[in-house]
Amino acid sequence: MPVLTRLIPSPLVVDIRPGALDDLAAILSDERISPSGRLAFAISNGSGQVLRDRFGPAFPGADWFADADGTIDGAVRLADSIKQSGRYDAVVGVGGGKVIDCAKYAAARVGLPLVAVATNLANDGLCSPVATLDNDAGRGSYGVPNPIGIVIDLDVIREAPVRYVRAGIGDVICKISAVADWELSHRETGEKVDGLAAAMARQAAEAVLRHPGGIGDDTFLTTLAEALVLCGISMSVAGDSRPASGACHEISHAFDLRFPKRSALHGEQCGLGGAFATFLRGDRETAGQMADVLRHHGLPVLPGEIGFDLDEFVQAVDFAPQTRPGRYTILEHLALTTDQIKDMYADYVKAIGS
Ligand SMILES: [Zn+2]
Repeated sequence: MPVLTRLIPSPLVVDIRPGALDDLAAILSDERISPSGRLAFAISNGSGQVLRDRFGPAFPGADWFADADGTIDGAVRLADSIKQSGRYDAVVGVGGGKVIDCAKYAAARVGLPLVAVATNLANDGLCSPVATLDNDAGRGSYGVPNPIGIVIDLDVIREAPVRYVRAGIGDVICKISAVADWELSHRETGEKVDGLAAAMARQAAEAVLRHPGGIGDDTFLTTLAEALVLCGISMSVAGDSRPASGACHEISHAFDLRFPKRSALHGEQCGLGGAFATFLRGDRETAGQMADVLRHHGLPVLPGEIGFDLDEFVQAVDFAPQTRPGRYTILEHLALTTDQIKDMYADYVKAIGS
């Protein structure tokens, strides 16, 4: 008997709206995630304390842990603290990507479900089955279960530094490039493409690409937040980061590794990398469209706009394939020399205008 359907690991609750955080206690109780209110909140030591002061009174049965600092050591400490402090129904990570990734890892370690409450929209990690944490070797990606709940309060998002909201736009629209890389690999290497995962990631990107609004309005913020959630789930569907990460991400990782102290935000680098990779793939029209949308939102399209000169950009693109061995993208396909990268970049600048 063939398998005619499949179960998709996905959150039980996705709640994206203004004021969602005010209803968190009721949401967790109604969904039977935490009928007793025994929750372990993971926050950062800085802005997390402000959130605790603001929302803590609604959770009298909860304990708060401020160990979530974005490192593997912090995540292990967080797990130990949670284990020693008592019995909980769930871990609730409240914060940006670093806090949520720490909370994801700690929750997996103590065997509890995780509810992710995102306070910015900087990247698609809030709903992905991966925790990115700093370790002794630099930075590592750790496989973890998907969050059981995603809560995004648009009132809280609006208070985040604007750069940490619009960076997510770059991390979403680059999926057009990531999926095109996946399809290229299918044609060139026979790699299997998961059509559902590809559809989720690409449609999320298309929705943001074609939305005329900006981060000042709720309809755009909702579309962006939903797109980030769908991109995260697309990775669970595919079983790895393939639908969300191609040459765009290799270029971003290369900036992080080659220039660790100077790299820009992940989403900023991925947006720029995605537009350039799309241009390399020969799709000038889409590359131009991506660059226009990035500019419309105040995101960088040229390396100079994030503080890198031409030689540094060429170094990053040249190094990029080594950041993700085994992943076939337009960079591995073209295998450009540094002189060719320079030439292609000059054409890119001409094509997208400045
Ligand atoms: Zn990303």
